[in-house]
Amino acid sequence: MAGLMPVRICNGPANGTPPCPTRTLVPARPGSKQASRCPPCQAQWQTSRGTTLQRGYGPEHRWLRAQLLATYQPTDLCWRCGQPLGPDPSVLDLGHTDDRLGYMGLEHAACNRAQRRLFVG
Ligand SMILES: [Zn+2]
Ligand SMILES: [Zn+2]
Repeated sequence: MAGLMPVRICNGPANGTPPCPTRTLVPARPGSKQASRCPPCQAQWQTSRGTTLQRGYGPEHRWLRAQLLATYQPTDLCWRCGQPLGPDPSVLDLGHTDDRLGYMGLEHAACNRAQRRLFVG
């Protein structure tokens, strides 16, 4: 028998980890595009992807924060409050510009949170 479509396997909610419980995809209807995830996985994947992007803490953010923490001086100033950043990197965050399209630099996590509270209201 020729002409069988290959069985598509769901990518899972996060590119295979954890694996999808069903593993198989419902074949797409003629004329519509085959999805790479079954509907529940698609929903989960989009949710996790969306929140990561919305919060601005993707791999790029973590990488840049690590770079800055590796090179900053404790006497460098927090761009929000103007006080020295201090010797403890665990209390420091990488600050966003207000439009969230760029980064301002290292800041106290407390200053970051204070500003976020202000925004959320
Ligand atoms: Zn799935
Ligand atoms: Zn500060």
